[in-house]
Amino acid sequence: MEIAHGIHAIPAHTGPLSSPFVPQVYLAVGGEGVLIDSGYGDEQSASAIIDYVNCFPGLRLSYIVITHAHPDHINGSARLREITGAKIVMHSAEQSNITADKEVGEGDIISLNGIDLEVVHTPGHSPGHICLYMRKDRVMFSGDHVIGLGTTAIHPPLGDMAQYIDSLRKLLTYDIELIFPGHGTPIRKPSRKLEELINHRLEREAQIIDRLHQGKATIKELAFEIYPELTGFLYEVAKGQVYAHLIKLENEGKVCSQIRGNIIRYELVPQRERHA
Ligand SMILES: [Zn+2]
Repeated sequence: MEIAHGIHAIPAHTGPLSSPFVPQVYLAVGGEGVLIDSGYGDEQSASAIIDYVNCFPGLRLSYIVITHAHPDHINGSARLREITGAKIVMHSAEQSNITADKEVGEGDIISLNGIDLEVVHTPGHSPGHICLYMRKDRVMFSGDHVIGLGTTAIHPPLGDMAQYIDSLRKLLTYDIELIFPGHGTPIRKPSRKLEELINHRLEREAQIIDRLHQGKATIKELAFEIYPELTGFLYEVAKGQVYAHLIKLENEGKVCSQIRGNIIRYELVPQRERHA
């Protein structure tokens, strides 16, 4: 489906995630084609993408740019590279058993035949996560840094809450009309969305501090207090988010931890004892 001039979204329907959370693969079409992310690694996913690309007779697929190396974004790339000869492009800090043909960093421009993608390093969801900016169209491909529905998961140790919040603030400095996220539909009011996400994290942080004040001390207790509605897998994700916040607070000197048995217990550092 063409979602903006020369930009197509190819949703991946084959994996475990159901609509509206399926990963979105984007195809930018100029004189050559560039894929942004690659979906799952199964044959059906790859052929759906190839079939889509083949709707443009003679279009050469030159690059597959990976926003980050999570399975629903990178796993399709090896098969697609084999079929098309496209080069896999990834940030140098991202780790995967699929090797990149070209490593990029902050500010690099992936340029070919009418398409310019600026690399914006946005660590947080993963260390080498990148967003891709098309300056003249004011479009940002955001991978999992900003998703269409809800908020992204930050899983320590590779996920980092402080970096994630900084990376959200970083996107606010770009002139963006539309965000094309790695999951969900396009985001039409980017700065409002970014501000909401930042505020949401800061509110969670304030809630954690508040519960620590009340004597809650473990990740389990805090997650149960803050996300009482969640169960199962989502509760596990929520515990990861709480842990990510606690690491941030500990690095800022606001919280300290002690391991007792195999349980980590947290408490607030009294204001007067904080450094800096
Ligand atoms: Zn991800």
